[in-house]
Amino acid sequence: MDTTQILWKIYEYEKEIETFKNKKQFLEANKNLEELSESLNEKKYDIINFKTQLEVDNMKIKRLNHKLKEINFQIKDTNSKLYSGDISNVKKLTKLQKEEADLKKEKEKLENEILELMEDVETNTKELYNSEKIYEQLQTKHKSSEKDNINILNDIKKQIKELENKIEKLKLSLENEILSKYENLKIKKSKPISKLDDDKCTGCHMSIPSIVASKVKKGKEVVYCDNCGRMLYYEQDDN
Ligand SMILES: [Zn+2]
Repeated sequence: MDTTQILWKIYEYEKEIETFKNKKQFLEANKNLEELSESLNEKKYDIINFKTQLEVDNMKIKRLNHKLKEINFQIKDTNSKLYSGDISNVKKLTKLQKEEADLKKEKEKLENEILELMEDVETNTKELYNSEKIYEQLQTKHKSSEKDNINILNDIKKQIKELENKIEKLKLSLENEILSKYENLKIKKSKPISKLDDDKCTGCHMSIPSIVASKVKKGKEVVYCDNCGRMLYYEQDDN
C-alpha cells in the first residue's frame, strides 16, 4: 500500500470509530430505558395505593360488620321485650317501638355502607390485579431492553477496539514524520486528508495544478493541497 493509501485507510477507520462513539453515547443516555423506569415507578406507586386502600376498606368492613352484629342483637332483644306481653304501659311500649325503629334504620344504614365498601373492594382488587400484571410486563421489558443495551454497547466497544488495533498496525508502516504531520492536520481540520476528484481537492473544492495532480496520482509521495493544506489522496480505479 502507498503511504497515502494507508493514511486514507487510517482516516476512514477513525471516522468509523467516531460514528461508533456517537452511537455509544446515545445508548448510554438511553431514553427508552429511562422512560421504562419511570413507568415502572408509577405502576409500583399505583400498586401500593391500591393495597393500602384495600386494607383500609377491609378493616372498615370488619368494624361495620361487628357493629351490625351488635345492632342485630339489640333488635332481637327489643323485639322479645315488645312481644313478651310483659309490657302493658303504653308510654313504655311506644318508647320501645321507637327504639326498634331507630335500630332498624341504623341497621339499614350500616348494611348500605358495607355494600358500598364491598363494591369498592371489588373494583380495587381488579385494579390491583391489572396493575400488577402491567408491572410484571414492564419489568420483563425493562430487563430485556437493559440486556439488549449492554449487548449492543459491548459489541460497539469491541468494534472500536478492533478499529483501533487496525489503525495501530497501519501506523507502524508509516514514517514518523508523515504520521505527526497527519496528526497535526487532524487537530486543525476534522478531515486531514481529502480525495482528489477530477483534479480537484474534495476538501476545499479548489482545482489542483495538473503537475501536482499527477504527483498525487502516482502516490509515491505525500502531496498537500496548496489551498487548504490537506494531504491529497487519489483512489486508483482498481481499488
Ligand atoms: Zn484543498
